[in-house]
This record gives sequence, C-alpha cells and structure tokens, in this order.
Amino acid sequence: MGHGQRVRLLYSFWMVTMPVQSLQRVVNATHYAKDRGLKTAREFALALCDDIRKSRRIVVVIKDLDKDPVGPPVSARIWQGQWIADCECGGASFIDPEDPFFFCFGCGNRSNKNRPRPVIVPDNWREIEAVLLERPVDDMAGLTDLERVALAKPLIMVDGKGGLARNWNPSETVAELREQNQPVEKWRKSLKTGGR
Ligand SMILES: [Zn+2]
Repeated sequence: MGHGQRVRLLYSFWMVTMPVQSLQRVVNATHYAKDRGLKTAREFALALCDDIRKSRRIVVVIKDLDKDPVGPPVSARIWQGQWIADCECGGASFIDPEDPFFFCFGCGNRSNKNRPRPVIVPDNWREIEAVLLERPVDDMAGLTDLERVALAKPLIMVDGKGGLARNWNPSETVAELREQNQPVEKWRKSLKTGGR
C-alpha cells in the first residue's frame, strides 16, 4: 500500500469516526474557570474583571459576589452547546447551572446596583444537556476544548430550519427536543451503511 493510499484510508476512517467523537459536554462558566486554573464560576467572574481592568483600564466591581444573587432573575438557555443567560442590555454571559448567578459584562449589572442576579435553571437541566449532546457536531476548529465547543457546527441539516444545533430555549420541553432529534437516528444508520 502506497503512502498516499494509506493516508486516504486513514482520512476516510477519521471522517467516519470523527462525528462520533464530538465533544460530549455542554460548557458552563465553571469550565471556563477551570480552563484558567481557577475553581469556580465566581472566581472566573473576578478574573474577567481583572482582564477588563488590564486591557481597557476600566474598574468593574461585582458587589456582594459572595452572597446569594438578588434582583430580577434571568433565564438560562443553551446556545451552541454553552450555558448562557441574556441581559436586557443585549449582553450575555456564561452561567453555571450548579451555581446560578448572572453578571453581565456588557453593563456591569448597573440596573441591579452591580450585584449578581439569580438565574432560572430548570430542574431537569442534565436531561436537557443529554438530549442536546445526542446531536452530532463537527468540532474540528478551535485550539482548546472550549474553543471547539464554541466553534462546533451541526452535522445534521433539517429542511428549512438549518442545522440541528445544540440549542435549548426555556420554552422548549425535553419531549420537544427529542422530537427534534428524530433525524439523528437516521443519520446514525446512514453512517453504519456508508450512506447507502
Ligand atoms: Zn447587561
């Protein structure tokens, strides 16, 4: 077998197995903390304040970060395999469903007197993650796991709706997500039969 032939074979093997190896994780703020050698989402928020101070010379203060969040809650959602919540200012931040607090670096939670806000996370959030993770993605791009999740592209296209992305909105039930996953089974079968 020539070198070129072997490379082509390896390449096609990789192309078939690659989607199966898609990152099986929905990323949250604590993953970002750990990526920086920190432990908690709260430490990550402080590190972001530090980044802003160094890069933009702006002092962002998070008040009462060591206390329970207060004020109007925001709703968690999953966007492209990542737990986030949106602020009325148009900003969004990563959140951790296990320590749900929200601080927006777009406005510094000014309307909440710079204090973290509560986040509404459904009790069945792990189930929601599991259903979304059944959706295969192409995660070739990116230098780290976190970048790969952020840049991942859905491998299944749904007629008229674009890619079957790892997205969840609070209005969607797990049953609805499963319903949306119907093309996944068909895709798995086509992998086994080589598309025939
Ligand atoms: Zn904001």
